[in-house]
Amino acid sequence: MKKYILLVILISFVFAIHSESLNDEGSLMAVLYHQVAAEYQALCYQAYNLASDRLILLAGQNHTKPLAVIMDVDETVLSNSKYNALEVMRAREYPKEFYQWIEEMRSEPIAGALQFTVLADSLGIKIFYITNRRDHKQAATIGNLKKYGFPQAEPDQVLCKARESSKEGRRLQVMADYDVLLLIGDNLIDFAEYFAGDTIEERAEAVEEWQSLFGRRYIVLPNTMHGYWQKIITDFEYDLTPEQIREKRINHLKY
Ligand SMILES: [Mg+2]
Repeated sequence: MKKYILLVILISFVFAIHSESLNDEGSLMAVLYHQVAAEYQALCYQAYNLASDRLILLAGQNHTKPLAVIMDVDETVLSNSKYNALEVMRAREYPKEFYQWIEEMRSEPIAGALQFTVLADSLGIKIFYITNRRDHKQAATIGNLKKYGFPQAEPDQVLCKARESSKEGRRLQVMADYDVLLLIGDNLIDFAEYFAGDTIEERAEAVEEWQSLFGRRYIVLPNTMHGYWQKIITDFEYDLTPEQIREKRINHLKY
């Protein structure tokens, strides 16, 4: 009888984990793409191989200022898929916020990112990591980058977010002193202000207009887990019920 009760408790516990804490089937698949799809890994190598070839080519041309590259951090050089996995399994396993995750310095290198930064460094090119992690997480961000040997992860080259979310101010600050050869990111706002549209249409139009720069000046990494592309679907609203989120997603399907 005692054994039977224990078994029932165990089964209900396992069942509860699976039925309650998987808060979003869409997020589950998004994280799995980063973690199990070798195509994701291949896309990252593709981006960084292309970036390396472009870097060597562009660095060989004439320039008036010292050379630099601008790189985003999250889902560009460091992967947070384990955080997102913990979030999918949320509640009992990992009731923590992203800023606590940053403090733990557990983000791992994106495929190809380290090799690219080492190449840039060996060519004497300055690397600026421009991230919207907040200023007070700069030390942890530097610690995480250094843990894996990312070069030039120094306080004046890891530019976190002070007030404004737009990266334009920080980009212009770098561009005043350097010829920026490449910008690398997973979100269009990592590249230029003209991508900062508030609607799906504006973003698509901006990409059409500047199409010739992709793979040449802008190197894009895939990110199915988070980004403006997702926030726009739900109109930047953060307190929607799962049903409301699902409805908004379906409304954007074309068929
Ligand atoms: Mg990013």
